[in-house]
Amino acid sequence: MNTMDATSQAPAARGAARAPAASVEGLTVTFGHTEVLHGVDLEIPDGRVVGLVGESGSGKSTLGKTLVGINKPSGGTVRIGTRDLSTVQGAERTAMRREVQYVPQDPYASLSPRRTIGQTLAEALDPHRADPKRHRERIAAALDQVKLDPKSLDKYPHQFSGGQRQRVAIARALILDPKLVIADEITSALDVSVQAEIIRLLQSMRGETDSAMLFISHNLAVVQQVCDDVVVMYRGSIVEAGPVDRVYPNPQHEYTRRLLASVP
Ligand code: ADP
Ligand code: MG
Repeated sequence: MNTMDATSQAPAARGAARAPAASVEGLTVTFGHTEVLHGVDLEIPDGRVVGLVGESGSGKSTLGKTLVGINKPSGGTVRIGTRDLSTVQGAERTAMRREVQYVPQDPYASLSPRRTIGQTLAEALDPHRADPKRHRERIAAALDQVKLDPKSLDKYPHQFSGGQRQRVAIARALILDPKLVIADEITSALDVSVQAEIIRLLQSMRGETDSAMLFISHNLAVVQQVCDDVVVMYRGSIVEAGPVDRVYPNPQHEYTRRLLASVP
């Protein structure tokens, strides 16, 4: 039950034969004396959008941050592609860091106030020589992907609306062509109308990029609109996982039923 079997499901079998973008097996994470994740098994298939839902404090961000390497596992395995995160070092580790990108809830947290959007995107590509002119085409393509005006390049984060800033944060993650993007409550702080704008963007990007996405949200309605699969976390364990169009109409776990009962 814990492991996603979505790759064996028709018609949602995009990328069925490929290695998953990421997977965790028996993952435990402990802070001090408190175990927050209790042996989590999860596969994120290549190219798919997987929603991670569950109430506040259930361990969603902890799981997301462990996949990026911000949190260290206290047990179990984390794999990006086929490689075990705990065994790669040096240059390979640096390369691997680029393969998983984390987009936080608050775009201000991930964007420097003193850099133009062009500089921020150039720096993501090339930390040592952050010259937007060197990467003009890739930066233009990234802005186009998130439907931002190319004229935005010379603007600073404070000159954008909240929704536009979140688009920049998404572009910054995608420009590296990562295997996996962790989107941690990226619509949660936005006004409803702006939230709808980001949802439409994510919908339009679905299938356009090879990157998989772990879309963390406590909003089940948003997950239904944006995701291929859904994973339900309850107090540090995964209680249910599967394609959205199977789990939403027919939840198996009692906790999933309760969560879904609150969706309008
Ligand atoms: P969610 O994202 O589902 O709201 P979190 O993963 O942020 O939940 O938190 C799960 C639990 O782990 C919470 O009880 C939280 O207080 C605790 N926790 C998260 N990060 C840390 C940390 N760096 N140090 C100590 N406790 C933490
Ligand atoms: Mg969280």
